Amino acid sequence: MTANGYGKDCSVKWCDEAGVHTVHRHYVESIRADSGRWVLGVNVVRPHSSTTGVELTTVPRHGRSTVVRLGSHEADLLHEAIREAVERIQRGAGRDTA
Ligand SMILES: [Zn+2]
Repeated sequence: MTANGYGKDCSVKWCDEAGVHTVHRHYVESIRADSGRWVLGVNVVRPHSSTTGVELTTVPRHGRSTVVRLGSHEADLLHEAIREAVERIQRGAGRDTA
């Protein structure tokens, strides 16, 4: 079953978008962050004129949302940086002094 409820609109196999669209998009994850003040979205996107990449969306409860498109190398760097930050927190957990 697709978003519009009756068949698939797009010929791109992994695309979730219904109706007429200029960017193919697969919704991967939607994360509530900062006590629900933000929703962070991670999507796979392919604009018609471009290569496939990762789309990062930040949607605040109030105000304007932002969209950043990353190439797969940039997305990899972000992934590594977040992983490293989390590992640093885990290594330092319970130790506020050096
Ligand atoms: Zn599509």
